[in-house]
Amino acid sequence: MIGQDLRSFLQAYEQTHSDEVWHIYNEVDADYTITAYTLASEKSGLAPLLIFEKVKGYAIPIVTNVFGSRRRIAFLLGEEKQMAAHWARVTATLIKPTMISTGPIKEVIWTKDRVDLGKLPILRHFEQDAGRYITSGVVVAKDPDNNVRNLSFHRLQVKGERRLGVSLHSRGHLWDYFRRSEEAGKPLEVAVVIGAHPAVLLAAASKVDMDTDEYDIAGALLGEPLQLVPCETVGLEVPAYAEIVLEGRILPQIREPEGPFGEYTGYATGRSTENVLEVESIMMRRHPIYLDVCPGFSSDHLLLGRVQKEAAVWQKMREVLPDVKAIYYPKSGTHFHAYIALAKKFEGQPRQAALLLLGLDPYVKLIVVVDEDIDLNNEEEMMWALATRMQADRDVSILSGVMCNLLDPSSTGGMSAKMIIDATASLDMGVVKCTVPQAVMARVQSDIGERLGQTGER
Ligand code: MN
Repeated sequence: MIGQDLRSFLQAYEQTHSDEVWHIYNEVDADYTITAYTLASEKSGLAPLLIFEKVKGYAIPIVTNVFGSRRRIAFLLGEEKQMAAHWARVTATLIKPTMISTGPIKEVIWTKDRVDLGKLPILRHFEQDAGRYITSGVVVAKDPDNNVRNLSFHRLQVKGERRLGVSLHSRGHLWDYFRRSEEAGKPLEVAVVIGAHPAVLLAAASKVDMDTDEYDIAGALLGEPLQLVPCETVGLEVPAYAEIVLEGRILPQIREPEGPFGEYTGYATGRSTENVLEVESIMMRRHPIYLDVCPGFSSDHLLLGRVQKEAAVWQKMREVLPDVKAIYYPKSGTHFHAYIALAKKFEGQPRQAALLLLGLDPYVKLIVVVDEDIDLNNEEEMMWALATRMQADRDVSILSGVMCNLLDPSSTGGMSAKMIIDATASLDMGVVKCTVPQAVMARVQSDIGERLGQTGER
């Protein structure tokens, strides 16, 4: 891996994928325009990485949609085909970070009266949002009892020059850290990293056990120890090559309205733990880049934790059912739909596989199981499997009243119905799929690939 910062990743990616990096030189508004660019360019099928060089009223450029395509995440991980398996293999050996005394992040330090969040180009993303939100902020904290470090994402609403609203959602590790420090009557120290190497963000988006320091996962993804520096005003460590870092405290016994905010479902939600984060100091590089993750129903948002989740469930399911060949969460289903490819040996195996996944991931409410000749990544092939291998009265199962994710707007009381569709061919179906010889197909595919390469189309 070349370098440990966002900018070296951007450079390396642009060198090899120049058509997938768009520099926008005309002046843009921080409100809505950047979200519109991200959503509209994703619809074009290209999902480029977007660099806004001139943002009205700010001296700092904005980068967004870093995670907007699987191909970009594959480039980052160095593996195109079997991303989930690759992730599982690479993160099996964690690499601890190393401390260095100082780094580029300390080039500029604002303390006391100089602290002003209004100087950062923090965006308003959607019309329904309560205000401007930091969406790419990796919140670093330590367990108040045993000092184990945690990295996680939380939406951060600007409330003043040094005040942020924060939701410690999903009752994750940070929520638990804060719960215990509030019980002891103390604020929880945090650092918010804005703009680090994308490996740090992928690590922060992983759902791992409470004893695992997500910096160790970042190291495993980078293939080398992540270099950290100590913070200025809190007892925490942050990446030496980060772009911007906020330091502060989540205040005990204080709750203030926060939200609504455009969530991954594509709907605005006011669900929030309504906590308050007071910023004490801000560090940044000399010419920092502000990183945004487009919230709402965008690939940038949805793909951030996707590879890790697919890897985790793939690994667990393979222990029980080695005939499971692939798992895929399609973007169209937000986090609620999953596709499984199975090398079916017995009838009933597809339902067993689906029930296993329902047990592992409470977010999922629709599972389609297909044979391994179907490309899970291709929704036309998925629909073809449904059209030709599935009979609704025989192959659809519905379970009522199972725990689900609270953000599903169609659910009630934290529960939803789960649907399993077995779209595998019956073992005795006795029909033959049309094919052309493998060698011919391979030859033609390589010719088509070359033609597309020549015209720059895809
Ligand atoms: Mn954790």
